[in-house]
This record gives sequence, structure tokens and C-alpha cells, in this order.
Amino acid sequence: MSKLTRLTVLGSTGSIGKSTLDVVARHPERYRIFALTAHQQDGLLFEQCQQFQPQFAVLLDEAAAARLRENLRAAGSTTEVLTGVAALEQVSAAPEVDAVMAAIVGAAGLRPTLAAARAGKKILLANKETLVMAGAVFMDAVRASGSVLLPIDSEHNAIFQSMPHDYAGDLAASGISKILLTASGGPFRNTPLSDLHNVTPQQACAHPNWSMGRKISVDSASMMNKGLEVIEAHWLFNAPADSIQVVVHPQSVIHSLVQYVDGSVLAQLGNPDMRTPIAYALAWPERIASGVAPLDLFQIARLDFQQPDFERFRCLALAYQALRAGGTAPSILNAANEVAVATFLDGKIPFLAIPRLIEDVLNALPSVAVTQLEDVLEADLAARRIAHERISQRH
Ligand code: NAD
Ligand code: MG
Repeated sequence: MSKLTRLTVLGSTGSIGKSTLDVVARHPERYRIFALTAHQQDGLLFEQCQQFQPQFAVLLDEAAAARLRENLRAAGSTTEVLTGVAALEQVSAAPEVDAVMAAIVGAAGLRPTLAAARAGKKILLANKETLVMAGAVFMDAVRASGSVLLPIDSEHNAIFQSMPHDYAGDLAASGISKILLTASGGPFRNTPLSDLHNVTPQQACAHPNWSMGRKISVDSASMMNKGLEVIEAHWLFNAPADSIQVVVHPQSVIHSLVQYVDGSVLAQLGNPDMRTPIAYALAWPERIASGVAPLDLFQIARLDFQQPDFERFRCLALAYQALRAGGTAPSILNAANEVAVATFLDGKIPFLAIPRLIEDVLNALPSVAVTQLEDVLEADLAARRIAHERISQRH
């Protein structure tokens, strides 16, 4: 029997956070929650604290933290409530912690996830933006501390499962010719281009196969999510852009594939439910039940594959372009995308303005080499400033 794992869940009130706690609750003999964190949802965090009795709960929002503190005290809980970014870093790097689920959305996840890497924790990485923004800095920290890094993103988890167990960052040495990254194509795969201009945030968030947070749902609709995932795969597997091929697969049953030089192609399949990659990473190298229904191949009956359409999905082309440019370009891409998506979700720009805005910002800001975290954070800030300027100029 393996020993008890003490876990911090960053972003516990989100889609990945809730799925993580669902799996953890199925295995109380294996996992203890050390800390739970959220932005401002104190009501849900209160319920989670009551169920899992963590040592710490962190809310970024101070008013929400005050409410949670009061409600937990009234309920006789011993959970201590903290607030602020430094507290997120503290509960990621605390000596009592064995593993950190990094499931904050967006650039806000970077600092606490990096803190976990520097402290040598086992990292279950859902926050792909950490690798997109600061892949070099983060991977250096992982190597220096001896962190174990396990991908949660379903595609990268599938690739990880389909690679040799001793994979050491050299595709050729492992006989790998290509990584095949599957994409559902999102809700607008077949929408006529002329109709894309008028799609609403609600339509963009209605993903055909996956239930996810709003930001990643819009990224899936624009296929920026796949673009971010190409960059994520580059850093996780030390794979050049040309070795990562996006394959549109509308059923989302094959979660990705690895092609070998002898003609073999290994894949991981399953129902589209994030509890599978979460359970895999939680228990690795063992396997535990996740609550996901077994795959019924007879019901699925067929699997389809298509080339991605780079004209329709400009964001995917922009992400490849940023990866090839290197340096701060992916960080600029990510920041411009975050501003564009938030503004689209607010109903203030049309869907097709998302790639236009990102391209404008990429053209306006030259990419510079990344030698330290500050280079990335500066590029992120500059890109957000220019993105906001462009939006206000147009309105
Ligand atoms: P979500 O919006 O459902 O949840 C985000 C969580 O982060 C919440 O707990 C929220 O309180 C917290 N948060 C938001 N802003 C914050 C801030 N500024 N500071 C601190 N905490 C903050 O998002 P999600 O869909 O669960 O996605 C989380 C991450 O996992 C993203 O990076 C996403 O790309 C990645 N991911 C998600 C899925 C999925 O199925 N949802 C799949 C693969 C990868
Ligand atoms: Mg994914």
C-alpha cells in the first residue's frame, strides 16, 4: 500500500479543481488535502473545507476571505484562511506538501506553480499557461529541484502514457517520429465562416464533448487552446514545432497519439472526462479508480480524423508562429489572448476580433530572449497594455 499523499489544490473551485476533489474523495486512505485555493468563490470553498478539512484555505479576494474565515469559525473548523498571491506560493511550497494540483486558470497560475517546482513538489499540471508563458524558466526549475511533472491536460496525459517510461527528452533516441495532438475542433468546426462573426459567448462556451471553465471553452472554440497545447507539448516533451501535428478528431475519444519510426502508433483512449488524467497523475505510477464509465467501443462505432483548417482557426496558426519565434512571443500571445477572451466574454468584441487582436499585439511587440522570470512578466504586462489600447481605440 502506498503512503498518504498530502495535496494542495490550486483552483479547487474550478472545473479541474472539482474533478480533482471528486477523485480524492473516492480514495480517503491515499490522499489528505493540505490546502484549497480559489479566487473569490467563498461559498463553494466553505463547503469544500467542511468536507476535506484542509489546514489552509486561500482566497485571493480579501472580502471573500473575511467571509470564509467568519463562516468557518462559526462552524468550529480549524482551517486557517489566508489571502494574497504570496499565500498561494506558501501553500504550494510548504514542507508538509507532497503534491500540487496546478488548476488555476490563466497567467495567475504561474507564480504558485513555479513555487511548487522550485520546492521540488510532485506537480500535476493543468495550468498550461505556465508552460506557454515561461516554459524555459519552469522546466529549468523542475530539473533543478527534481520535481516530478505529470501533465493533466488530456492530450499531454495521453502522450505521456503513450511514450516510453524512461523517455528522457529526446524524441529521436526513443524512436519517436511525431506527436499527434488531437483536437475536437470545438463548437464551430462546421459553422460557416460568414456566421462566425456573430457567435455569442454562450455559443462559444457550449463545447460538444467537454464541460470546462469559460476561458478554456472560448479557447477551444477559437482553437487557441490547441495552439497553447502545441506550445505546452513542446516544453513537456522537448519536441520541436515540426514534430507536433494537430489532428482534428471530433469524437474526443482518442486523446492523442505517438508515432514511432517502425510504423507503430500508440494512443490513449477514453471517455472525455478529466477525472481519468487526474486519477492517472494522482496515483502515478499506480492506477486507481476515477469514477469514469468504461469506454463502449460498440456505442462509439466510428472515429473520424481531419486536417486542421488554419484559415478558419487563425489562432492555431498564430500559436505555431509564436512557438517558432521563441523568446517572449508565446508569453505575448498568451497575454493578448487572455485580454481578448475576457473582452469577448464581456460582449465587447466579436469572436473574430480575438485572432485579429492577438496578431496586432504580436506585430507591435518584438520578441526578446528569456533569461529569467522577469522577462516573461514584463512581456505579459506590455502585451496586456497594448491589447487594452487597441480595444479602446476601436470603440
Ligand atoms: P475554471 O475557470 O473552471 O477554474 C479556475 C480556478 O482558478 C477557480 O478555482 C478560480 O477560483 C481560480 N482562479 C481564477 N482566477 C484566479 C486568480 N487570479 N488567482 C487565483 N485563483 C484564480 O478553469 P478550469 O477549466 O478548471 O481550468 C483550469 C486550468 O486547467 C486552465 O489552465 C485550463 O487551461 C486547464 N485545463 C482545463 C481543462 C478542463 O477540462 N477544464 C482541461 C485541460 C486543461
Ligand atoms: Mg486539452
